[in-house]
Amino acid sequence: MIKKAKRIENLPPYLFARIDQLKEEAINRGIDVISLGIGDPDQPTPMPIVQKLCEEALNPANHRYPSYEGLLEYRQAVANWYKYRFNVDLDPKKEVLSLIGSKEGLVHMIWGLVDRGDIVLCPDPGYPVYRISTLLAEGEPYSIPLKIENKFLPKWEDIPTEIAKKAKVMFLNYPSNPTGAVIDKKGLEEAVKFAKEYDIIILYDNAYSEITFDGFVAPSILEIDGAKDIAIEFNSLSKTFNMTGWRIGYAVGNADLISVLSTVKTNVDSGVFQAIQYAAIEALNNLRDFSKESVKIYQRRRDMVLDAFKGMGVEILPPKGTFYVWVSVPEGFTSTDFAAFLLEEIGVLVVPGIGYGDYGEGYIRISTTISEDRLIEALKRVKEFFGRDD
Ligand code: PLP
Repeated sequence: MIKKAKRIENLPPYLFARIDQLKEEAINRGIDVISLGIGDPDQPTPMPIVQKLCEEALNPANHRYPSYEGLLEYRQAVANWYKYRFNVDLDPKKEVLSLIGSKEGLVHMIWGLVDRGDIVLCPDPGYPVYRISTLLAEGEPYSIPLKIENKFLPKWEDIPTEIAKKAKVMFLNYPSNPTGAVIDKKGLEEAVKFAKEYDIIILYDNAYSEITFDGFVAPSILEIDGAKDIAIEFNSLSKTFNMTGWRIGYAVGNADLISVLSTVKTNVDSGVFQAIQYAAIEALNNLRDFSKESVKIYQRRRDMVLDAFKGMGVEILPPKGTFYVWVSVPEGFTSTDFAAFLLEEIGVLVVPGIGYGDYGEGYIRISTTISEDRLIEALKRVKEFFGRDD
């Protein structure tokens, strides 16, 4: 019998591993499952990026161990992108670090900051990795409640003063997975003010910065005066350029935080395949408008989902970003029951909100990263089942 560490035994199963399992079971029972579960863009990576990878992969110079912190050209391309997109100045040598996708960076950052018992403020509902990384480091996650009446934005007065005083780190994520809510600069200013008042480090997750709707342009937290004193921002090419499988991202911001993260990473991983970094440079330098096309697609799909649920007695705050729709479950269901019900009755897989934290109970998350004909079929099933066929 293998004796696992308690920190592993105490972890809940990773949400999407569990969802995959449920999907498999339903398929094995003969159900035609349409997955609106995981958020993984269905569109391909743009061809110029793939071509650049192919070229660079043929060069033996790229076959060796890469530099830990990332090619300077890559970090410079990230800095240039931040200047162009957010008007933020970054020193590529001290304020930019390459990541094997932003998830890796978020987890490793916690290892570098959190000792046993340290409090980490986590958005709730929020990306499960915030809580999980905190638990792995034996820290204590504390929920920042995100409620529909506040447009899923934090109300800092909801955090008790004694918790705020003890908290060491906070995660913040907008455009938000799972709610699709966005934050403006004023909201970010309030977050920075709160964090500075209580000496809390901000880990800002801007993974969906380029996927926003109705003309909204997502800010970087580094646009806020003084944010660089206490904040680091995580982003990646995953959602912006349909590159989830490539595993390339970056952290930018406070040089001390970058240095802590770099210390953890140099001891744990050995960086990103250089050919992928060159392909990422191509994306950041030469495909800056690519995501505008993706946004059109996701906005159209979002509207299809909103339309399908209209009149069904469910409450939805129309998402302003990401490719998720956060839907309240009908009276009498828990989120888990409703997700199981949709899977069993109509073969539509969604994610129960409880997987994103206690405040996620009462909701399901729908991902629109699926071909439009399958999405239409899923929504048709929903409408038929709930007695509407308009
Ligand atoms: N942050 C959020 C909010 C996410 O939803 C995801 C992935 O779904 C990530 C970070 C991780 O993305 P990646 O590791 O591909 O950069």
